[in-house]
Amino acid sequence: MKSPIRAGKKVEADLLIKNAQIRTLDHEGTIAQSLAEFGGWIIGIGSNEDLADLAGPRTRIIDMKEKTVLPGFIDAHEHLSNVAEIPLQLDLSSPFPKSIDQLLARIKSQAERQPAGEWIRGIRYDDTRISDGRPLSRQDLDTAAPHHPVVVIHVSFHWGVVNSEALRKGGIDESIPDPKGGQFGRDPGTGRLNGKVLESALYRFGLEGLTREPMIVPPFDKDVRRKALIAAAEMLSAAGITGVHDAVVSPSYVTSYTDLGARNSLPLRVNMLIPYIFLPELEKLGLVGNWGNPWVRCTGIKIIVDGAIAGRTAALRDGYSDDLANHGILLFEDKNELTSWVKRIHSMGYQACLHANGDLAIEMALDAIEKAQRDDPKPDPRHRIEHCTMINESILRRMHNLGVIATPFASYLWQHGDKLVKYYGRERSEMMFAHGSFLKGGVGVAGGSDHPAGLHAPLLGVQSMVTRKTPSGEVIGAGQRISVEEAFKMYTAYAAYASFEEDIKGSLTVGRLADLVVLNQDPWKMNPEDIGQIGVEMTIVGGTVVYPRE
Ligand SMILES: [Zn+2]
Repeated sequence: MKSPIRAGKKVEADLLIKNAQIRTLDHEGTIAQSLAEFGGWIIGIGSNEDLADLAGPRTRIIDMKEKTVLPGFIDAHEHLSNVAEIPLQLDLSSPFPKSIDQLLARIKSQAERQPAGEWIRGIRYDDTRISDGRPLSRQDLDTAAPHHPVVVIHVSFHWGVVNSEALRKGGIDESIPDPKGGQFGRDPGTGRLNGKVLESALYRFGLEGLTREPMIVPPFDKDVRRKALIAAAEMLSAAGITGVHDAVVSPSYVTSYTDLGARNSLPLRVNMLIPYIFLPELEKLGLVGNWGNPWVRCTGIKIIVDGAIAGRTAALRDGYSDDLANHGILLFEDKNELTSWVKRIHSMGYQACLHANGDLAIEMALDAIEKAQRDDPKPDPRHRIEHCTMINESILRRMHNLGVIATPFASYLWQHGDKLVKYYGRERSEMMFAHGSFLKGGVGVAGGSDHPAGLHAPLLGVQSMVTRKTPSGEVIGAGQRISVEEAFKMYTAYAAYASFEEDIKGSLTVGRLADLVVLNQDPWKMNPEDIGQIGVEMTIVGGTVVYPRE
């Protein structure tokens, strides 16, 4: 290959990778040996000899010693801004409390370490892994920390438990009605508040991106947020992630991301999904569709339609298998309200990103998209259904016809698969995280972790999509298995498509961004059950080595 010439001068690569086994994941399935980067972009792909001419005295050359190189992983549904805040709070998932008493002991010791009146923010509490067989209550928290306001958020982020002091700080007393799209838990005997706060009732206790009302628990300071974001992003770099779609970005994190992007301080690229409640602000500013740059970009507008799979709040047409009367939670009781938001998003040129787990919620989301598209037809709006967990043939057909993209949980079966059949029954479980059905049905689909609710490592996601194995080794939905190649595309090319960036991301091709990952084993040449064990040797974003840190 002859060097490209720009303005009469020969271009000298900033970075040249050689002796690699580069799986480009392009349309032709090209495998190459060498890659050259200049100014963040790929300027050459080929053999060592082909690209030798691109090296100059200032070129950094990395000999990959036959290691496997892939396009950098893009997680199409990650909660980086939430992840950043985990170390700033009391993480109740590690070490894992086995009983309510153990959990309360940790709250108590936290209370002893901080001044009375200061918030204790517990996160990632998982009632299903605690032996007592009952959820935490307001009274429990009152005993552990009577003088501190306490909020404990469930691992699903869809509900939490607060103590009496927290209720007092929020001006909440027994007379409070349930808010729209949420609920204050009450003791069935006495009818008194038991501290459980579900969905929208939880927002003001720490989920800043989901409410325009004043927060009861204040947001973290801007410098604290900036440092925390970089640390969290670096953890993802170590897993080979070069880009995330942050699925709920609150206004303060829009500021943090754009600030970090402008300082060139981010080790990965961020696509922001901004909650729909802030659409009026974007309208006022005249910010329409996909604004930003390849580092920080607004991809879509997020609407949460129903609850969670693990939290058993997903809206199901036929109810939960072990509790048929329970159909989960719909956050929009009025269908027309959802439709009018989707139309507004659609007409502003944004992708509507509708969180819908259960079949009932997915159908409702599709109804809204269908109306928006009928009233204002656009050639390729690429609206998304986030998670899109429980599907059926009719949902698949409608998604195909509307060009709607799904971002299902990639590693859910590997992480929680064993409890699925109890909650959802065999047949429905086989049609969950239906990567295989989406591909066969001609529906756009991308890999997402839902981290921190799910595990962040894309290699685990690949293993789970390829094997469909639960922790106990059972296979659920063998027909949903996909090939190793397709599984990696979920985290590369297809994720890029989900944000209209397939021309610049997702495959290692000349003219695209030089975002790549180096693995210590070739996933194509091993037992798929071990793909999650592969080590990430190096992560490169825009030609810069971001992992290991230099
Ligand atoms: Zn999510």
